[in-house]
Order: sequence, then structure tokens, then C-alpha cells
Amino acid sequence: MIYFDHAATTPLRPEAREAMLPLLGGQFGNPSGLYSIGREAQRVVDSGRERVARCLNARPSEVLFTSGGTESINAALIGIAYAMRRAGAGNHVITTAIEHHAGLHTAQYLEELGFEVTYLGCDSHGRVRVDDVEAALRPGTVLASVMLANNEVGTIQPVAEIAQLLRAHARDQHHRVLVHSDAVQAAGWLELDMEALGVDALSLSAHKFGGPKGTGVLYLRRATPFRQLLHGGGQEMQKRAGTENVAGIAGTAVALELSQAGVAVRARRVRALRERLRAGIVATLPRTQVNGCQENCLPNNLNVSFDGVESDVLVSALDRAGIACSSGSACSNSTWEPSHVLMAMGVPIRRAVGSVRFSLGEETTEAEVDRVIEILPGEVARARRESITVGSLAS
Ligand code: PLP
Repeated sequence: MIYFDHAATTPLRPEAREAMLPLLGGQFGNPSGLYSIGREAQRVVDSGRERVARCLNARPSEVLFTSGGTESINAALIGIAYAMRRAGAGNHVITTAIEHHAGLHTAQYLEELGFEVTYLGCDSHGRVRVDDVEAALRPGTVLASVMLANNEVGTIQPVAEIAQLLRAHARDQHHRVLVHSDAVQAAGWLELDMEALGVDALSLSAHKFGGPKGTGVLYLRRATPFRQLLHGGGQEMQKRAGTENVAGIAGTAVALELSQAGVAVRARRVRALRERLRAGIVATLPRTQVNGCQENCLPNNLNVSFDGVESDVLVSALDRAGIACSSGSACSNSTWEPSHVLMAMGVPIRRAVGSVRFSLGEETTEAEVDRVIEILPGEVARARRESITVGSLAS
């Protein structure tokens, strides 16, 4: 199989698996236990926290482990917005229309809880404008949540600039607006330096960077107002109750270290492969269009619309040919609706339903890229014949 769906999930790094195995066997202690295997488990959690903090240029006390990106995002949005409202700071949250559903649906839930939410649009490349964040600010704004890189088209968002704007706003207007970023797709491809980025909270999901599924990280800057989402025991510095996923934490720490250590070299190599794929597709298939910004974009993401094709039909055909890729967002592709991201970018519906995401990984080879370029024309021609409903859609 040629695996071009790394934005959906990545294979577990062997080093992460090695770190986890003893913890799934004899070293099964509960970190709260006061005996030796409990203390050993606590040491694994502590060391994982220190190592993740180092990768993020953060303090260990600013790192919480969660059950994944989705929980981190839920905890950040609800936990910060609620704490700010309780402190009397206001009731208004800013986010974007192109967030992953983990962010978008949590923002909608905040509306159910009585918050007012502004959903910012983006330009035709999928980029949110800093000016729009500024224009959306009100006296009662408490939080802005903008993803670091989009999961469907890979566009990188101006999060550092937004954080800078809001720091200046706090200084000049004496009005503090906190910043959260969903960095789930950025890990392994962009530097993650919390000081340089200037955010108050940031979410990661381990399985997107070679760690295990079901483990996530929530970075919470020191003194950030936060009310915990999960209540119970006092784990995670009273900010996330529940017995820790010790093996998951060990695997996450190893995977993040390996991912972030090689970011620049990996990005350069994979960007060249993505460009080879893009050029090959455009040269062999006339009625195609690349979606998203090609300069300011994750190096591994290529989102292409094939005119006259329903993406699910093409993705299934490619699967039969041994190629795994995705139509729209893999996390929500069970419904046949055009992508909310492409819609926000102003992509016509006919083009949006024919969009396929190829997301490369660090193990992707030139030979795999060339094989996909070779197979695609035949499969696209077949998919065009089988895509029966797309004909009725306007161009
Ligand atoms: N945010 C983004 C940008 C994602 O791409 C994903 C998963 O695809 C998530 C959040 C949710 O992560 P998880 O499913 O690991 O909880």
C-alpha cells in the first residue's frame, strides 16, 4: 500500500512502541500508588512531561496529558472561556469557520452554554486575516482560537501575529484576550516554540506525529485562567482528572522528541516530494486544480480537485489500486457534504466535491510519488464515468 493519508494518522514510531511495551506489561503500576511500581509509573509521567515541555520550549507545569487532540481542544475552549466568564471578563469567543470539527463543534456547544461566538472567514487560499481578528474584538471578548495549520488544505495560519496583536491589545486597552491554537496538524512539520508563538494554550494529538492513538497534549501557559473539563481525582496538577495513560505518555514524549528534532530537514525533503506530486498531477491531468496556498502551507499536504469527479468514488478506486488517501477531512468523511473549509475558501461546490487530499509522511519515497502520478489518469477517467451526480452541479 502507498499510504498518503498521514494527516489522518501516522504509523507508530518503533522508538515509541519500544518505550511503551514495558508499561503495557510488567510495569503496570498506577502513578498514584505509593509502592515501587506506582512510583516508577509516576517517574514515567514526570519524565514524559519534562520531555514534552522541552520540545515546546515550555515549563513541565504547563503541559497536561489528555486523551487526544479532541479532548485538548474541548478542554481549552470550554475551560478557558468558562473560567474567564466566571471571573466576569466577558462572554465572547472568536474562532474561524475553517477549524477542525473538534474546534467548530465545541464552539457551537459554547453557544449552547450562552457564549457568543464569532466565526471568522478566510481568503481563497484558506488563510485567516489578522485584521479580521482585530475587527471582531469587543469589550467582552475572552478567547480567540485559531488553528496553526488547516487539516484539509494545509494552510498555515498567522497565529504568532494574532497572539502579538492580542498582547498589544492587552497592554494598550487593558483588555486581556487569551489565544488557543489547534496545532494537531503542525507537529512534525513546523517548529513548536511556545515563547515564539506567544499562545496561551495549544493542542496536540500524538498519533499525528508517530505517537499512539488516544493520547494528546494540552499546553496551558502559566496562570492561564482555566476550569478543568474532567472532574474526579487530582491528576495532572488538578487540571485533568483520571488515571494517566502511562504507556501513551511515554510513547508521546519519544514521538514528539523525534518529530520536532528533525522538522527542518524533513520539511525540506517532503516539500520537494509534494511539489513533484503536484507538478506530475497538473501535467498529466488537465482538468485539475490545487486547493489552498502553496507557499504558506504544510510541506506534506496536497489538496487537489478533479473536475467531474466525486471524491469518494476516486478515493475508493485508488484504494483498490493500493493507494490510501482521503476525500476532505478523514475525521468526518462519512457524510457526503462538501468540505466546510473549501466552502469558506469560496471554492465552487462542483470543485469541492471532487477534492482529494494527499498527505505525505516522512517515510514517503520518490518512487511512491511517481507511482501515484502514473496510476491517477486511468483512475480519474474511470471515476469520471462513475461519478453520476456531479454532472448536475454548477461549475
Ligand atoms: N484538529 C485537527 C486539525 C485534526 O486534524 C484532528 C484530527 O484529524 C483533530 C483536531 C482531532 O484529533 P484527534 O482525532 O486525534 O482527537
